[in-house]
Formats: sequence, structure tokens, C-alpha cells
Amino acid sequence: MARRKQIYEGKAKILYEGPEPGTLIQYFKDDATAFNAEKHAVLEGKGILNNRISEFIMSGIERIGIPTHFIRRLNMREQLIRQVEIIPLEVVVRNVAAGSMVKRLGLKEGDLLPRPVIEFYLKDDKLGDPLVTEDHVNAFGWANPQEMDDILNMAMRVNDFLSGLFSAVNIRLVDFKIEFGRQFEGDLMRVILADEISPDSCRLWDMDTNYILDKDRFRKDLGGLTDAYREVATRLGIIKENDKRDTKGPVLVSSNEEK
Ligand code: UDP
Repeated sequence: MARRKQIYEGKAKILYEGPEPGTLIQYFKDDATAFNAEKHAVLEGKGILNNRISEFIMSGIERIGIPTHFIRRLNMREQLIRQVEIIPLEVVVRNVAAGSMVKRLGLKEGDLLPRPVIEFYLKDDKLGDPLVTEDHVNAFGWANPQEMDDILNMAMRVNDFLSGLFSAVNIRLVDFKIEFGRQFEGDLMRVILADEISPDSCRLWDMDTNYILDKDRFRKDLGGLTDAYREVATRLGIIKENDKRDTKGPVLVSSNEEK
């Protein structure tokens, strides 16, 4: 069989040419990076879990009427997706103070915010993904006002959907990052949800113990990342309690100290 053409390789995923025009294959790697790729490790089984969790979440989001790039999962590590032109913004929705917001605004980690807050970061590794305002987005044309309206609306609806989904299994959705893309069909263009939604891109805390069930286990060197992701998948009913397929522990390939 001819080798598939690789379109793009990111930190945790690879995109290959899809079987039909307008489609791509999204491959989930086991790689984890943090602090703008200064810290890197391969965590065995992470990609498989994120593929399943993202499939589950994207399908649920699609069911409530929000368009996504997800078409179907193909195998353990791959899913078929719609090709989009990625809007160069990381859209972060926060419910509880954590991470960079705590440092920037001097908040106490874990404090409930007065209401959900949306932030935009410019996708630019060289600049370290800086926080930008909606006026920057409009002025520099990264997205137009109509697209921003769609993005804000979808981000809020995704937050409500995910908050409910996770709270039903005793997990607090602290914050998450999503990305959007433009899908072209003939003369028509629409903004749809792209990328992935998984514990790599969310902060998820157990509601009773505040045990961390997301990528902060890697960022903060807490260990047990794949076990935590497996716990999320099990609670959501994606995998069975006694599913022992991906039980090998994390393998640390290289790790540099936080800057
Ligand atoms: N996030 C992400 N990718 C990034 C930066 C952040 O998925 O490149 C997610 C992160 O997991 C968290 C949310 O976005 O759920 C908010 O992250 P924050 O701005 O606090 O950044 P951090 O301090 O984690 O770098």
C-alpha cells in the first residue's frame, strides 16, 4: 500500500491526507510537551486514550448541534476528520482559577470565577502563544467579527456541555482550550470546532479530592498521567473498569526543568 502523505506534524498529533478530498486523518501520538515544548516525554498509551476521549466528546458536541471536524474514529490511534483552515487562536474557557490566570491576576488556585471567562491566545510558538484581545483579533484579521461571534457562542455552549458531562461523573471542569477552523464547501464557509478535546487540553479535578486528572500531572511532574486519563475514560463510560489493555506505565524519555 502506498505510504500516506503527511500534511502536518504537531506536538501530540500528525495529520495525513484523507481518503477523499476535504478529509484528513488525525493520528494521536503518545508524546507530551509543555512549556512551549521545553519539556517532552513519551507517555505510553496516552494517544490511544485521547483518541477515544476526543471521539466521545466531539460526537456529543455534534449531537447538540455544534458542527465539528470529527467524522469517525478509524482505529486505536486515528480518526477521520474534515479538512479546515485553522483559525490561529487558542480559545480558552475558564470556570475556576488555575494555571496562567492565577499568576497573571494574582488569584487563588481553585477559586470559582464570578462567571465563565473566555480568553484568546495567538497560536505562535515563536512568541510563546501570547494572550491577545478581541480587538487584536479583528485589527489583524485573524478572524472577522462574524466568525468571532460564532466562536464565542460555540465556546460557551461547549463549556456548558462539558461542565455537565464531567460533573455527572464527579469531575470539575476547571478550564479547557479549543480551536476552530474554516470549512469550505463550494462557495460556502462555516466555522467548526477542530483539533481535539481531551485531558491534554482540559483541567479536570476530582470533585471530592481535587485529584488532578489532566496534563498538569505531566507539567507538574506528578506521575500517573495515563492512569488519570484512563480514569477519565472509565468514568465517562468509554472504557470498562477492568479494561487492562493500556496499563503500561509512563516512560519518561526526556524531561527538562520548568523555565
Ligand atoms: N492549554 C492547552 N494548550 C496550550 C495552553 C493551554 O491545551 O498550549 C489548556 C490547558 O490545558 C488548560 C487551559 O488551556 O486547560 C488554560 O491553560 P493556561 O492558560 O492556564 O496555560 P498553562 O498555564 O496551562 O500553560
